[in-house]
Amino acid sequence: MPQVQHIETYDTTLRDGEQGLGIALSLEDKLRIVERLDRFGIDIIEGGYPTSNPKDIEFFKRVGQLNLRHARIAAFGSTRHKGTLAQADPGLAALIESGAPVVTLVGKASASQVQAALRTSLEENLRMVADSVAYCVAQGREVIFDAEHFFDGYDENADYALEVVQTAANAGASCVCLCETNGGQLPARVGAVTAAVHKALPEVKLGIHCHNDSGCAVANTLDAVGAGATQVQCTVNGYGERVGNADMLTVIANLQLKMGYQCVDDLSQLASVANFVAESCNITLPARTPYTGSAAFAHKGGLHASAQSRLEGAYEHVDPATVGNSATWVVSELSGKASLVRKAQIMGLNIENDEALTQRILDDIKKREAEGYAYEVADGSLYLLILRHMGKLRPHFMLESFRVIVDDREDTGCWAKDAASEATIKIIVGETRTVATGEGAGPVGALDTALRMAIEESYPQIAGMELVDFKVRILDENVGTNAITRVVITTSNGEQSWGTVGVSENIIEASWNALVDAIEYGLHRMGI
Ligand SMILES: [Zn+2]
Repeated sequence: MPQVQHIETYDTTLRDGEQGLGIALSLEDKLRIVERLDRFGIDIIEGGYPTSNPKDIEFFKRVGQLNLRHARIAAFGSTRHKGTLAQADPGLAALIESGAPVVTLVGKASASQVQAALRTSLEENLRMVADSVAYCVAQGREVIFDAEHFFDGYDENADYALEVVQTAANAGASCVCLCETNGGQLPARVGAVTAAVHKALPEVKLGIHCHNDSGCAVANTLDAVGAGATQVQCTVNGYGERVGNADMLTVIANLQLKMGYQCVDDLSQLASVANFVAESCNITLPARTPYTGSAAFAHKGGLHASAQSRLEGAYEHVDPATVGNSATWVVSELSGKASLVRKAQIMGLNIENDEALTQRILDDIKKREAEGYAYEVADGSLYLLILRHMGKLRPHFMLESFRVIVDDREDTGCWAKDAASEATIKIIVGETRTVATGEGAGPVGALDTALRMAIEESYPQIAGMELVDFKVRILDENVGTNAITRVVITTSNGEQSWGTVGVSENIIEASWNALVDAIEYGLHRMGI
């Protein structure tokens, strides 16, 4: 059998994707996305610019401590400034200091951009490319060169664009990625230009990086691969600047299922990865997303539905199971018994030998997901749910009542300003009833403070648990009823972090339930 060609997957969700409108990821979110993409089998994960802000610098420190199975981490930055030395460039120094094994350098491949935007000579730009790549290679890093504005540059001055690619490769870049930066090109041209570059420079490994401004990012990426590119730079769900990048998941599915290439071993994680990253970004995955959306294999029309029931696959381009989706949609990755058993096992719970129990848990998850819960990002709540069904959940405290007051006193016209919150809480631990009052800038902060005050004497360990992220989403899927609020909280003990979820028509109630799960999970995992 002929060997199936591997196409290298390079994910830039954490850098290019995060530049998308409405996308903000906390440090914890980023680290958990890295772990998820690693488990999925992505080859290279770009973390961001190690120079841009303290969060990204901290990211590279923390990501180095993760136990990644497969992926290599890339740090992103520019070629050196004009008229300076690579070894004196602070940006390049930061890339090396980040400790990332892969360094991705972006440089200009368009002659007009060099002159107008960079305001330097074409020769100096080539020296900037060569020096910067060679410097990072000499520091022991794998260097990928992103040739910015490559396709538009090729249309204006093909010789120069090619010279930039050749220069980067000669200086030691392992791959030169052709970037369709403005996203306006169409597939036939992207394919033809990539083929021309491949023919002119057959020894250079080529990548492709496409934006979706003309709605062709995925098609452009596929055509480039067909023309000889062997690395795809994309983002999960196509998040990115303006209208976004090529969707990594659609690209992978098409490459594997339609074009005979290999990217990842387990394509059935596709829908789960899409949902995990969407939840982390606090965005609902659009139902009509190819392969992974909830409508991707939905059969609504009477004719289609009845034909589909007689002939499975009558209106399906692929079997939904191959991409972890299903004709009747289940949101979470826990769509089957086997994956629930595996997930429980990872969390240290054994439910393998109890079919009835597994089914009960699965039914409960499905019911709750229909109500608005999402367990992809709430391992802590999932753990407690499984424990409850196993009959092993021992609540550490009982709530008698709480009351939250939000008080605005400043005279700022008809608008409120600096409103203060105060929560009073009555908690029972064992035989002891405690009444505590906490203050906070917001009602959830006040509840958190009051709860900690009420139980810290019995459980001093909670001092080490810190609420690090708080996401609120109004779910509008439930048309005709009151809006449902989903709250996802991330808590950290300095070594590990865990997500918990609460759902209610009342935002305070949803927050409280997520908060209680966060503390309960933390205490259970400490064996308390
Ligand atoms: Zn880009």
